[in-house]
Amino acid sequence: MKVLKFGGTSVGSAERIKHVARLVSTRGCNIIVLSAMAGTTNTLVDICNYLYKKNQAGARETVNAMQSRYEQVIAELFNTPSSGTRGGAMMSQAATEMREKATADVNRCLSYIRSLIDVDFTETDEKEILAQGELMSTALMLAYLKFTGVNAAMLPALKFMRTDENGEPDFKYITVRLKRLIAMNPDADLYITQGFISRNEYGDIDNLQRGGSDYTASIVGAAIEADEIDIWTDIDGMHNNDPRYVQGTRPVSELHFEEAAELAYFGAKILHPACVLPARLHNIPIRLLNTMEPEKPGTLIHNVSVRNTIKAVSAKDDITCIHIKSGRMFLAYSFLLKVFETFEKHRMPIHMVATSEVGVSVTVDSSPALAAIVDELKNFGTVTTDEDMTIVCVVGDLNWHNGGMASRAIEALGDIPVRMISYGGSTYNIAMLVRASDKIDALNRLSASLFNKN
Ligand code: ADP
Ligand code: ASP
Ligand code: MG
Repeated sequence: MKVLKFGGTSVGSAERIKHVARLVSTRGCNIIVLSAMAGTTNTLVDICNYLYKKNQAGARETVNAMQSRYEQVIAELFNTPSSGTRGGAMMSQAATEMREKATADVNRCLSYIRSLIDVDFTETDEKEILAQGELMSTALMLAYLKFTGVNAAMLPALKFMRTDENGEPDFKYITVRLKRLIAMNPDADLYITQGFISRNEYGDIDNLQRGGSDYTASIVGAAIEADEIDIWTDIDGMHNNDPRYVQGTRPVSELHFEEAAELAYFGAKILHPACVLPARLHNIPIRLLNTMEPEKPGTLIHNVSVRNTIKAVSAKDDITCIHIKSGRMFLAYSFLLKVFETFEKHRMPIHMVATSEVGVSVTVDSSPALAAIVDELKNFGTVTTDEDMTIVCVVGDLNWHNGGMASRAIEALGDIPVRMISYGGSTYNIAMLVRASDKIDALNRLSASLFNKN
């Protein structure tokens, strides 16, 4: 059994839903993980923002607009040609039945959102609203598949997907519950579940962060020991650079799990940063495929590395660099301990570290919480920050024995100022910190130098 995950664009219209339904119905009995239709989660975020601002009218108008969109999609999905023939009449009866089912399911979600408009809005309500996108897309797909004669069964994510007190997937719970749900539908042709949404340690509705449907697919794949996890999206695999900023990028045919994890962590949006780990631990290959061009090979992510190649480049935005200079380096061990304890206390992950005899520089995500951290760090030394920075990450065979590979990456940047370099933490990457304003130039120079030389 495989897990096939389809992102928002892949299910973003009635036409796309029909296309995905055709695609999955010829691929055997697999588990399909769906995102919300493209734009829906952003709209749900807008609704929540109105409600935090107590602008109920804004929220109501946005829900109404969303309702029109879904009504249109339902009308297009179950728009049967004619009822003039016997076959046509049967088809239109099935269409009516499934149209009514889809409408009822979508209306239930919209009514739920409306029921939260006049309450004192909390973070729990926000999570519940954000969950409605995936509940609606899966309801539409299930109804459409049934209409086309596929015996599909729903595996409701809220009945098996759960995170623990650290926000990590509770694998034991997930595996037991998921297998039980599958066993309850032994004759299904295929199974559908919602990406992104989960319950937390208290049983409240929560989610796996934006873009988290990839993570759902990987968790589900690990739980059922899937043969493969296929991430279907709007591009033909992981490209060797970010196609949003560099022209002429090309898909990479294969990546080691760790290479893919580095790229995802350092900004390659095609994969959620946490998605590789469950697959890697269970040694389940991940394939990145294009929904609109299913015959293309895409990218295979597996436990195999190719020597002597640089595979791809990515960039992570919104980075702040914090430099803490100690006046008393003879206390170096306790100095570093205190610095890192401060980040731990504020639960602020660090991406890059560089040390010297006089101080340490670290990079973190820019956030309003940094002001308090910087203030506390001033107890241990002189603190300065560089804001609006970007980490540019080069991934491939960067094992230190492989002399010359790292210098190729650094030389490619030419005269672009590099604030920090991190190398040696992994055998698969080198990360360089540049000003955000130099990012596009840096990515283009890396492509020109690393991939486009003949
Ligand atoms: P989905 O909605 O299917 O989850 P995403 O928008 O999350 O899709 O991810 C696909 C997008 O990731 C692509 O359209 C592309 O713009 C972006 N992207 C960023 N870096 C890369 C890369 N290195 N290779 C491929 N796509 C990338
Ligand atoms: N729908 C969610 C989002 O837009 C999750 C996902 O698409 O992966 O972030
Ligand atoms: Mg995504």
